[in-house]
Amino acid sequence: MRLAKELASQDTSPRIMILKVARLGFPSLRTVAQPVAVDRIKSPEFQRLIDDMVETMYEYHGVGLAAPQVHLPIQLAVLEVRNHPRYPDMPPVPLTVLINPEVSILDRTTVDEFEGCLSIPELRGLVPRFKELRVKAVGRNGEPLDFTAHDFHARVIQHETDHLKGEVYLDRMPNLRQLGFLDEWQRFLLPKKTGDETN
Ligand SMILES: [Zn+2]
Repeated sequence: MRLAKELASQDTSPRIMILKVARLGFPSLRTVAQPVAVDRIKSPEFQRLIDDMVETMYEYHGVGLAAPQVHLPIQLAVLEVRNHPRYPDMPPVPLTVLINPEVSILDRTTVDEFEGCLSIPELRGLVPRFKELRVKAVGRNGEPLDFTAHDFHARVIQHETDHLKGEVYLDRMPNLRQLGFLDEWQRFLLPKKTGDETN
């Protein structure tokens, strides 16, 4: 009986929702995000928002999603890299929830890679990013996070934390000629890797 009752109550709990993604031009993408009050993190509403953002990231095959991309100018981002079709060679990054992140640069060497953004659909652009970072943030249960990230992991974090500052990858591009639509990017801009055919 008790189990049945518990199941019934779970059954009526709100379902995870796919959120609408804001596109460039929507004000939240150009707003400096506000810090999240730490006592709010454990509330059911905030936990549900995190779940919805994770599900939205999966739905649209993103490797990260920041709250301003779902119309909320607050300092919250989620990221995960795992068997991603667009980045098959990149080392996996476990699902991470970053609340109120503070990033310091450990290695100012920059690496150029093409990026896309769910808020700027269909485009890819070449963006230099710092190679290594230290990240301090609050996790989804209010716990302190403190870790270093390098290369692609560091790139994803720079992309997502830029969103929290009201910035997008286009702002980081030194050369807008390295911007193209997905199909044309694959045909003309994406550097051909040598040796792929034989491996
Ligand atoms: Zn983005």
